[in-house]
Amino acid sequence: MLFKLKIIKYWLRFRFRGTFSNRESLESYQKKSFQKFVSNVLVHSPFYSPYIKNIKSFTDVPVIQKKQFIEQFDSINTVGLKLEEAMNVALEAEKTRDFAPVINTISVGLSTGTSGHRGIFIVSENERAAWTAMVMTRVLKPKLFKRQKVAFFLRANNNLYTSVNSLLFEFRYFDIFKPLEILAKELEQFNPDCIAAQPSVLMDLCRLSIKGKLHVSATKIISFAEVLENEHKKLIEETFNCPITEVYQCTEGFLGVSCQYGVMHLNEDIIHVEKETIEDNRFYPIITDFTRSSQPVVRYRLDDILIEKKEKCKCGSVFNALEKIVGREDDILSFHSGKGVVFIYPDLICRRIAIQTDKFKNYKIIQTDNDTLHIYLETDLEKKEKCILEFTDAIEDLLNEYGITTTKLLFFDSIEYLAGNKFRRVESRILKEK
Ligand SMILES: [Zn+2]
Repeated sequence: MLFKLKIIKYWLRFRFRGTFSNRESLESYQKKSFQKFVSNVLVHSPFYSPYIKNIKSFTDVPVIQKKQFIEQFDSINTVGLKLEEAMNVALEAEKTRDFAPVINTISVGLSTGTSGHRGIFIVSENERAAWTAMVMTRVLKPKLFKRQKVAFFLRANNNLYTSVNSLLFEFRYFDIFKPLEILAKELEQFNPDCIAAQPSVLMDLCRLSIKGKLHVSATKIISFAEVLENEHKKLIEETFNCPITEVYQCTEGFLGVSCQYGVMHLNEDIIHVEKETIEDNRFYPIITDFTRSSQPVVRYRLDDILIEKKEKCKCGSVFNALEKIVGREDDILSFHSGKGVVFIYPDLICRRIAIQTDKFKNYKIIQTDNDTLHIYLETDLEKKEKCILEFTDAIEDLLNEYGITTTKLLFFDSIEYLAGNKFRRVESRILKEK
């Protein structure tokens, strides 16, 4: 079948499947989807086929994490690809910046892996069509009689994304490793209707626009790949005078999208999400993606810490809503107290700072060892002294509540932004056993 016809097929499926009136109907739909997924996809995976006979529910399959997912690549994938071959193709594409590598119609990509672990993902033509249709239904929404121009800022292009090119969309890839000024010129020439980028890139564009060095009239902004902080969201929306749609997309799948009220909902009609509870309403998601067939993602535990929203969202969706995507497990801070090691979540420290002060332009906190925090603080010169005092109060008050009294806070003037790197507001550089 022609690729575009496939997209239409999936689009009709997603578009007209109807909404779920309650959680029960969604859950029963997920159970049926899982059974279909077992008999259509997992039977072809050497890794999963031994489980097939006894699978009655999700929990009959083992939970998997990134390390094992890569180690078992050869036996997990259903198309007979070998890790070495796929990795060579992906690395070559990364080096040459030519991102059209295909092995027998299967696209291969390298995952970003801020954890330092290299990952590989493969996508078949059917999966690309399904992804495109999903993006069209939930995020981009085609307009009749108007071809929308989409500027997509990525560290590496992939066939997955260029699939969106069609009569309805003109997609342009912007390589975020290029200097910002060049990107700005290219962006002005392209004059997009929609700009999709990670928040740190959106903030860079925002700063240029404020200085009068970038003139674009987009009607939609899409943010993905990093945690979008509230104050950044506000500034980006005000500067470009249009709303932001937040997309929770990672190598492992298209996990969620924000609704018209700005609340992130998980895409629970295509993925099943189990919650590995951390405490209160925080959890690690364990996902099963029903749209993946070449490299099945089954009970895959992500390192992202998510906070569930307790109240129902005004939009009426039965899909679970998130209060926040906090960040990665690796960035939980750890300190020594009189009672042993104490862990502090990144968002907790940010919230305390937000309550105490709004005099900063931007900041980043890096923990270098259990007793030291490096705080990179950008603020106006006249506010600097007061701002440092307020940061110190906010952080020390929080640490004291946990019995932590020996932490040194070291302040620095500016944040080092590395093109292509994901911005993490709170980062732990303490090596952790995996
Ligand atoms: Zn909602």
